Amino acid sequence: MSDINPVHIIGGGLAGSEAAWQCANLGVPVILHEMRPERGTDAHKTDGLAELVCSNSFRSDDAEYNAVGLLHEEMRRSNSLIMREGDASAVPAGGALAVDRDIFSAGVTRALEEHPLITIDRGEVTLPDPSWDSVIIATGPLTSPALAEEIRKIGGEDQLAFFDAIAPIIYKESIDFDTVWFQSRYDKGSGTDYINCPMNKDQYLTFIKVLLEADKTEFKDWEKDTPYFEGCMPIEVMASRGPETLRYGPMKPVGLTNPYSDEKPYAVVQLRQDNALGTLYNMVGFQTKMKYGAQGDVFRMIPGLERAEFARLGGLHRNTFINSPRLLDKMLRMKARPAWRFAGQITGCEGYVESAAVGLMTGRFAAFERLGIPYAAPKETTAMGAILSHITGGADAKTFQPMNVNFGLFPPLENEAEVVKGHKGKDKSRAKKKAMSARALVDLESWTTPDIKRAA
Ligand SMILES: Cc1cc2nc3c(=O)[nH]c(=O)nc-3n(C[C@H](O)[C@H](O)[C@H](O)COP(=O)(O)OP(=O)(O)OC[C@H]3O[C@@H](n4cnc5c(N)ncnc54)[C@H](O)[C@@H]3O)c2cc1C
Repeated sequence: MSDINPVHIIGGGLAGSEAAWQCANLGVPVILHEMRPERGTDAHKTDGLAELVCSNSFRSDDAEYNAVGLLHEEMRRSNSLIMREGDASAVPAGGALAVDRDIFSAGVTRALEEHPLITIDRGEVTLPDPSWDSVIIATGPLTSPALAEEIRKIGGEDQLAFFDAIAPIIYKESIDFDTVWFQSRYDKGSGTDYINCPMNKDQYLTFIKVLLEADKTEFKDWEKDTPYFEGCMPIEVMASRGPETLRYGPMKPVGLTNPYSDEKPYAVVQLRQDNALGTLYNMVGFQTKMKYGAQGDVFRMIPGLERAEFARLGGLHRNTFINSPRLLDKMLRMKARPAWRFAGQITGCEGYVESAAVGLMTGRFAAFERLGIPYAAPKETTAMGAILSHITGGADAKTFQPMNVNFGLFPPLENEAEVVKGHKGKDKSRAKKKAMSARALVDLESWTTPDIKRAA
């Protein structure tokens, strides 16, 4: 028996399982509370820990040119249980890491059950016990309503969302600045807060037609009774109300002057800066249920976006996430209740691997704090540090929506000019990604080495 007080982790999904593993491996006991099978969710089907509720893919495993592949590698180097069991249950999937979901979940469950410092307590936590002085909330996109209500009471009425309404996000460097221009409507704010993509009448009407014909994804049965429609209606639903609707909504052409043409635009798509680094721009009001494949084709019809590269495509889903940039500090503690940390999708990261990565960081932070050992966040130049930095401050709190890891979240290379020298187009972008990945793995070392030494 350890004489160290346990950390209580609520939720045994991707994030909670990883957090428990990290915490326990640093010598701190954990009580992992998982409500299944006592209480289920609309998406989980088993009582296994780290159940994958939909696809069986951890996405690209390419650590040189893909940000999620790099995240895999960083997690492997940080003794991740999710990656260890993911690798052990891998099935053939080209350049992706896909897993046998049953073998994967069974492997995670076994490792946690067998760990001498981890106790698994099956049951819903509706309110963390006031005597628990270190709590990690990792209850995911389908957090039980009673606990969600408690979080909402503490965080504030508007700071917990039950749906995401995701507008696509574009890498600034892929926008054609010979066509678009910076201007705010009626020159409000700084006068240049938005990027404007102009359309003439023909372009607009063709765009509406293609938008309406594009393939859409359906809501699941349990997602249908949703309150999202008032605030953030998908653009295709707006367009279906009449061809002029978007022109009187997010695409209104008023208060703007195209410096490249005397012709007044018939409609304008506006892009707004999405991260503090200024590398990403979101399409204002363009949340959509179009299928991913269709989105690229439709949005690249917009003048200036013909070669757009998307850091994130649009979507609307049932979700539960807090406004992390506002509510959390840099170490994932709730400012209003510092004994509570958050991990996983509820922090506003998106995806299995990202959720586990935030679990990995939170588990370590909680353990180091418990042991009284000074600790730091991974550098922003690493994939883990880039996600952490985005959700705890890099993102705009006013428009915060869930985000996958992508290279747009990383600070630019110090030696970019040198790295891209002699490269053009896609080659240039690949050279940058490769250099960013190499920098990340070097910078990760200073974060992981002290624990490896400690554990040895
Ligand atoms: C329908 C759906 C499909 C998805 N598809 C994909 C996909 O294909 N690929 C992808 O990368 N991501 C997908 N996601 C996102 C995915 O859920 C997350 O990426 C990932 O599972 C989040 O990990 P997590 O640990 O934060 O939450 P989860 O893995 O959901 O784990 C949270 C755990 O907390 C438990 N819990 C909830 N409330 C309580 C409580 N009060 N007390 C105790 N336990 C509680 C739950 O039972 C659950 O086990 C999907 C999400 C949903 C909802």
